[in-house]
Amino acid sequence: MSGLNPAQQDAVDTLSGPLLVLAGAGTGKTRVITFRIAKLIQHGVPRHKILGVTFTNKAANEMKERLTALIGGKTVKHKYKKKAEQGENEPTISTFHSLCVRILRRRIDKLGYPLKFAIYNRGDQEGLARQILREIKVGDKLLKPNQLLFHISNWKCKSLNPKQAMLQSESDAQHIAAVGFERYQKQLKLRGCVDFDDLLLLTEQLFREHPDVREEEAARFEHLLVDEYQDTNTSQYRIVKALAGEHRNLCVVGDDDQSIYAWRGAEVEHILAFAKDWPDAKVVRLEDNYRSTEAIIKYANTLIRFNSTRHDKVLRAARPGGEVPTINQWEDEVQEAEEVVRSIKNRLNLHGREPRDFAILFRTNEQPRPFETALREAKLPYILVGGMSFFDRKEVKDTLAYLRLLEDDPDEISILRIINTPPRGIGKKSIENLLNRAVREKVPMWDMVRGYAERPKCSPRVNQAMDQLASVVNEVRSVMGNASLVDQARSLISRIDYKSEIDRIYKEPEDRESRWNVVEQVVNALSDYEEGARKPTMTKFLDRLLLGDQSADNDKEKQLKKNAIALMTMHAAKGLEFPEVYMVGMEEGILPHQRSLDDDEAGVPEERRLCYVGVTRAEERLTMSMSLTRKKWGKARDTKPSRFLYELTDQADNPNYAKTRGQ
Ligand code: ATP
Ligand code: MG
Repeated sequence: MSGLNPAQQDAVDTLSGPLLVLAGAGTGKTRVITFRIAKLIQHGVPRHKILGVTFTNKAANEMKERLTALIGGKTVKHKYKKKAEQGENEPTISTFHSLCVRILRRRIDKLGYPLKFAIYNRGDQEGLARQILREIKVGDKLLKPNQLLFHISNWKCKSLNPKQAMLQSESDAQHIAAVGFERYQKQLKLRGCVDFDDLLLLTEQLFREHPDVREEEAARFEHLLVDEYQDTNTSQYRIVKALAGEHRNLCVVGDDDQSIYAWRGAEVEHILAFAKDWPDAKVVRLEDNYRSTEAIIKYANTLIRFNSTRHDKVLRAARPGGEVPTINQWEDEVQEAEEVVRSIKNRLNLHGREPRDFAILFRTNEQPRPFETALREAKLPYILVGGMSFFDRKEVKDTLAYLRLLEDDPDEISILRIINTPPRGIGKKSIENLLNRAVREKVPMWDMVRGYAERPKCSPRVNQAMDQLASVVNEVRSVMGNASLVDQARSLISRIDYKSEIDRIYKEPEDRESRWNVVEQVVNALSDYEEGARKPTMTKFLDRLLLGDQSADNDKEKQLKKNAIALMTMHAAKGLEFPEVYMVGMEEGILPHQRSLDDDEAGVPEERRLCYVGVTRAEERLTMSMSLTRKKWGKARDTKPSRFLYELTDQADNPNYAKTRGQ
């Protein structure tokens, strides 16, 4: 237990009761959590009675790694095998969403959903939103599917149900959205599906309406530790309370200056009110930053003071001196990308720097493209972290839908997705008939396809096509029932001839290859999962994949380990650290984001916190850059430097500072 300062030690030694660690960036909050888990284990708390919760999969993985280094057990090399051998006697380190999936898989039937509920991804949600807007005859001019989903998600993040949303609605668009919300929720339930936000809301509801379930779930753990507590929204807050109510062994750590999810309903009040909720809470403050040099901390401190309402905290650099951060201006975004990449290339062999020591941080998802191009040209290994792009690919969605068929009762969405993919002559009309009958007769669609339930009238050709699909799936299930999940998947993919679908759509050999690679990645992910799990099931795998726990993310993890430059959003970088950080696109309208500037700049403090998060990721070297012009819809436009550049460097008296804000 060496390597802790007295304040950290105090927190780690507090083994029971409510504990709050409220401290600035890089002061060792996450370190306190991991050390405290190790200490609990040392003191005889059974490993499986400990639950650690973080926000992103990446953070969860990092915590697992830090913990492994402390308490041993899994070595990196045999990570999967060892875990399987040791069974479930490990602390649970999980994101809120994965935790909720596990709870709901056990008890969601109490709320009238099937235990095998499907989780909607963004594409599924859009499809449903579009259908609902059509039903209520609302045109794109009034409300687009995306906008409907935006309203719904906002309400859900605030734990509002459709009725409450209706009462709160002011504009016409909001009223329509509230009507859409009610239908959306009904449809989801009818289809036995939930969306990401529901995972939290339904868990909260389950606990509220079924005290027995709450008690049972709460009793699974004796210790609950939550990282990044400043970003909990109301549901998460209530779930934490519900789980910790009896044992009261709740340790939360966070930093109000790093609260960057208010737009998703997070309320920084939760962390500030912790001592009120738990009057006997012990509060520990940490003031020494071990991550960054003094030069970097000075910028961070100067910047964050521009936020007027905050709890002033001391943040001292434990690493004196250091290189003063640089700010560069480039002609356009292409030059900015090339120069950043050139700089990394030049520095790669200095001081033993490796690709993984570098991160390029950006604010919006449109930004990374020129960087990807430049990195490819320079032949440097990189990894684009976060984002759902992998799952948005048609090939991934199709493959996952097929894998669902290997479950006992596959959901409707999956069936609809693949019933005519690759094309097997089952037309729109036939599909509509199937759907109508399924709704009317309340029979599962899959039962009709496989002939267990009467099908609506259809042509011999269509009947035959369905028989064929069903028999392939049945054969894989029965003949290969004892084979590994991977073998089943491989067999299914080859027997339905998914390759033909790719060849049909893509004509270029390179395209075909890269698309086929994506399917392979899914199978690889399944194999990784299967090797590591004690009782692997397809459902569990698909859930994890959807939540990004495994597969793509894991693949990315592997790539990161493979030693690559990280390209990621500042949001995704929360909690992480890198020796050298490049913050790019430091312009008004990007950081601070345009959305935060509308509405009287009400969103600027949160953007400033985001900038603070970015700056405090750097250990030794920080380079910020902007480009003087940037393309919008193909046209170069002049930009303005981000106000934060003036603030960081303490230049509030610079006349240009006022100008950046149009004053
Ligand atoms: P963030 O707010 O960004 O999440 P944090 O407060 O969680 O940061 P950590 O990530 O736990 O901070 O720690 C930052 C870095 O400082 C890590 O590399 C950690 O190993 C190191 N560190 C923390 N405490 C000490 C210490 N007492 N001695 C040496 N190194 C430390
Ligand atoms: Mg941390």
